[in-house]
Parts: sequence; C-alpha cells; structure tokens
Amino acid sequence: MSELDELYQEVILDHNRNPRNFGRLEDAQESEGFNPLCGDRISVFVKVEENRVVDVRFEGRGCAISQASASVMTTMTKGKTVEEVQKLFNLFQQVVTDSEGGEEAMEEIGELAALAGVREFPTRVKCATLAWHTLGSILEGQAGTAVSTE
Ligand code: ZN
Repeated sequence: MSELDELYQEVILDHNRNPRNFGRLEDAQESEGFNPLCGDRISVFVKVEENRVVDVRFEGRGCAISQASASVMTTMTKGKTVEEVQKLFNLFQQVVTDSEGGEEAMEEIGELAALAGVREFPTRVKCATLAWHTLGSILEGQAGTAVSTE
C-alpha cells in the first residue's frame, strides 16, 4: 500500500461517505472553522450540561480527511466531560504531529488512529485537526468565534 492509500483507508472513506451526527443542532453553542490551505469549512454544534458534552453535531464541506475527522470526533466526544474531550484532543495532536509520546498515545485514541497517516503530510494535519480546534473554541468559552488554521 502506498502512503496515500494508507491515508485514505477504509475508516476515513466510510466516515466521509456516511458522516455521523451530520447537520445542525438547535439551541446549541456553535463555532465555525476554516482551513484556507485546503478550503475545508466546518460548523460544530455542541450542547454542554454539567460539564459534559451531551450532544454534538457538525456541518461542513471539504476534503475527506477534514470531514471524516469531524465525524469520528462527534462519535468519540458525545458523553465525555470537557476535560476528557480536551485530553483526547491532546493525545490526537501528539499522534498527528508525531511528537514525543505519539506512539503511546496512538493506543488511547480509538478510531482516530485511522487518521494517524496525516503525520506524513504536514499540510494535512490542519485538515485532521480543524474540527477539534473548532470544538475546542466552544469548550474554552469562545463559541461564535471563527477559527482559522492560519
Ligand atoms: Zn482538507
């Protein structure tokens, strides 16, 4: 398998074709994210109750990596506390930036590991983390702001 094939493995293709939790969420906090390098756009909607993500959805268009990452994110963050979500994002960032501890982190990020191949393609890291930065802006109390990867 070529590196690019690995990058677009089945999990990514499946989430891109059939995105989970796609669409607006009413009465939710929202932020928009934009990755000018690739043209990915994303809106993340989230409801937080008692410090826990009780519902999360997204809308957007862009490359398969950005859409699949957002889809996987919604399935993995729903039901988690804000701290658990932030910890998961930190582990995911360690993996995709290939930083120290990345290999160990790989075992703790579940289906997100399918996106680990982006570490071979630095510009793609922004595609893979766009949804997470957008969700992060809401959880940090900055809902409504536009997040740009630049
Ligand atoms: Zn992209």
